Amino acid sequence: MGIDFVLDELNALKDRALLREYRTIENAQGPFVQITGKTYLSFCSNNYLGLANHPKIKQAAIAAINQYGWGAGASRLVSGNMTLHQELERKIAEFKDAEAALLFPTGYMANVGALCALAAKGDIIIGDKLNHASIIDGCRQSGAAFRVYPHNNVSQLEKLLQRSSTFRRRLVVTESVFSMDGDTAPLPEIVEIAKSYDAIIMIDDAHAMGVFGRHGKGMIEHYGLERKIDVIMGSLSKAIGSIGGFITGSKHLIDFLKNKARSFIYTTALPPAVCAASLAGLALLQDDTSLIDKLWKNINYLKSQLSKFANNIAVESPVVPIIIGSAENALHLSTKLYQNGILIPAIRPPTVPAGTSRLRISLMADHSESDIDRLIALLKDFGFLVPKDSKSVKGDYA
Ligand SMILES: *Cc1c(COP(=O)(O)O)cnc(C)c1O
Repeated sequence: MGIDFVLDELNALKDRALLREYRTIENAQGPFVQITGKTYLSFCSNNYLGLANHPKIKQAAIAAINQYGWGAGASRLVSGNMTLHQELERKIAEFKDAEAALLFPTGYMANVGALCALAAKGDIIIGDKLNHASIIDGCRQSGAAFRVYPHNNVSQLEKLLQRSSTFRRRLVVTESVFSMDGDTAPLPEIVEIAKSYDAIIMIDDAHAMGVFGRHGKGMIEHYGLERKIDVIMGSLSKAIGSIGGFITGSKHLIDFLKNKARSFIYTTALPPAVCAASLAGLALLQDDTSLIDKLWKNINYLKSQLSKFANNIAVESPVVPIIIGSAENALHLSTKLYQNGILIPAIRPPTVPAGTSRLRISLMADHSESDIDRLIALLKDFGFLVPKDSKSVKGDYA
């Protein structure tokens, strides 16, 4: 009765291998993490460039605490807007080659806030089927009609645009680098089609910052689409190793969101030292692209090693999915890796569609080739990776 249903639901999740539990990391984030006093090689952090524990970033945060204290004390529009929030927004706009930027406490809130401000009942949002939960939640909360096209399928996107001419406004939204699949969207085509139907175009560039583009500015830089996209969302919690979400776009868009985005207005501003850390992270990227080069060296190394197997695993970014299928098998492989000192949690529904449970490998700049070799050797020993020359060896997961 009453609240007791929660236990029933937890038991039901456990029976289906869908119960989520976390482990506790006892040291700073990096390629090696400590759990219950033991060291594990981690392949599951978005801290792609290792900035979460960078000495210059730590120093910047400490200096900011000494100057500005810790908390911001209020929402931005009341009295929480401090020098460092302004400075970070200016820096983000410059980094992303945009007119202006607006900072949110998290990327999740940036997506929900922007989508709910830009679309409402009478409008339609059209998005990729594999869009991140924060985009889906924004679409749902906005009250707009919401349709999805099959993953990266531009002709189906166009069909949906053709069929939606009765709506007041149309908004197309996609990730640039997909968070659970590591593959990339055909942005130039998507932008062209959206424009030809006069739709608003919004890109979630969270996983591209610090990874794609010559200066790590993201997929917009990679494709040379600066100022061609109406709304760009990003996060400082991935390669920048900090916390905070943002939207970049025209000055008018940013002024509009300041007035309309509820997840911006009705929440406390980030602690100023968090902004100082993000500023230091952006400065590091601007001065020196060697960390990005190191990350890509690892991505290309993993790609070349995986190409020796018959599994056909595509490698397009630091996120590489090892698709297993059932939640039970994904959990089983993850547990076996853990027993051998490697941390890669199983990603299961509803984060990914049923039948596509996976281990999601994330690479970092400070992984070594021998770290990657160790992972590959174990996946091979466990029968998941099948050598190309072996005739019909089927492992547990083949
Ligand atoms: C992580 C992520 C977000 C949310 O960002 P946070 O800053 O962690 O809240 C949004 N979109 C995508 C694609 C992400 O991977």
